[in-house]
Amino acid sequence: MFNKVLIANRGEIALRVLRACQELGIKTVAIYSQADEDSLHVQFADEAYCIGEAPAAKSYLNIPKVMSIAVMAKVDAIHPGYGFLAENPDFARICEEHHIKFIGPSAEIIEKMGDKATAKKTMDALGVPVIKGTDGTVSDIELIKQWAKLTGFPVIIKATAGGGGKGMRVVRSESELESQLEMARTEAQAAFSNDGVYLEKYLENPRHIEFQVLADEHGNVVHIGERECSVQRRHQKLLEEAPSIVMTDETREKMGSVVLKAIRKIGYTGAGTIELLCDGDHNFYFMEMNTRIQVEHTVSEMISGIDLVKEQIKVAAGHPLSFTQDDIKLTGHAIECRINAENPDLDFRPSPGTIEGYIAPGGPGVRIDSHAYPGYTIPPFYDSLVGKLVVWGANRQEAIERTKRALAEYGITGIDTTIGFHQWLLEQPDFVDGNISTNFLTEHPYQPPVLPTTGPTP
Ligand code: ADP
Repeated sequence: MFNKVLIANRGEIALRVLRACQELGIKTVAIYSQADEDSLHVQFADEAYCIGEAPAAKSYLNIPKVMSIAVMAKVDAIHPGYGFLAENPDFARICEEHHIKFIGPSAEIIEKMGDKATAKKTMDALGVPVIKGTDGTVSDIELIKQWAKLTGFPVIIKATAGGGGKGMRVVRSESELESQLEMARTEAQAAFSNDGVYLEKYLENPRHIEFQVLADEHGNVVHIGERECSVQRRHQKLLEEAPSIVMTDETREKMGSVVLKAIRKIGYTGAGTIELLCDGDHNFYFMEMNTRIQVEHTVSEMISGIDLVKEQIKVAAGHPLSFTQDDIKLTGHAIECRINAENPDLDFRPSPGTIEGYIAPGGPGVRIDSHAYPGYTIPPFYDSLVGKLVVWGANRQEAIERTKRALAEYGITGIDTTIGFHQWLLEQPDFVDGNISTNFLTEHPYQPPVLPTTGPTP
């Protein structure tokens, strides 16, 4: 097993990885920016080093600085968390060159899967159903027009280097095509320094369903079932659950084996996610692969009892998986609410600042993954995730009731949060009935409460 691991991240995920390392008896090295000096991952780690100014480019994304601390602190491995350097093949390669294990797949696989147009072609060739689309990236407007007319509107323009919903545009008629293409390209260039785009058929009201996979370096590959992440705002997930209400045991087995075959064929190792869209007829189509641990991995942990981060670290250290597909039993239902420092009443306006009071919910089936505490200041420089409320219930109904109970217990003052949004969501009859799609919030716009909801006052 590794002796010492550097965690190249911040916030709740740095804490999550740190906890896994501690349980495995691994020493931890935290890095932090000047804005994160008071962060819990800094306080809990065995060693912590400041790596620069607040902007991510000067700290968490600064590869030479991260590597110099890794070498100086003599770590065996680096866990990248999600975001920042987690899907950067150059970083993975540099780690390899320094004989420091990058906890994730090889640089070649990150590269192959990171380019979404190429990943789609790869999956198509391996027999995974894909959404009808252009053959890789495209730029010739005449060819694009021809393709769109043949396929039929609506179509969606997607950035090949995309992430976080950036560079994505839905086009409903030919007259919008050229201008939307221009905008998507500009946005993609600004966000990813790569203006490559591809197009695919836009599915109306699909569900976002993804499979969690784990693969070791000895050829063993398993999936931990699916997660449903259809509740999204501007293509960003807000609430995730497992299992999906539309998944039958039969379909899970069928889709699971298609996914595992592909994972095995590409020689994938580590934890990863295959993201799919599911249409009204329960057809599944590959969308992209995330070659890292995801925010919502927690719901799969709750229904499987498997600690995905510990398993990820163990397989990176060369251990074989200690269970087979048949050993994995999914029990009950789990829901994750992303609690962001945003004001849902003001169009989800970011609300960084100092948390004055903080009471975390507890009781049966409730898990909180959060780096927040009273007096902690949420810096304005990074994502707005304050914490994840993850709840398990024997079935979906109990999970919903328990989540409502836990949300009512969650008291955060000093900043605005999305707690009230989740309370509203869990009261929506269509949500309760499982009638959800990626357009749920367009069709059910959030209504702020007439009277402000009063949570506990910490
Ligand atoms: P990103 O990596 O930027 O998050 P994804 O490819 O994961 O982008 O897509 C994010 C979301 O965009 C999906 O969950 C879905 O809501 C929507 N989406 C993407 N492709 C399509 C499509 N072909 N049809 C309908 N919705 C889509």
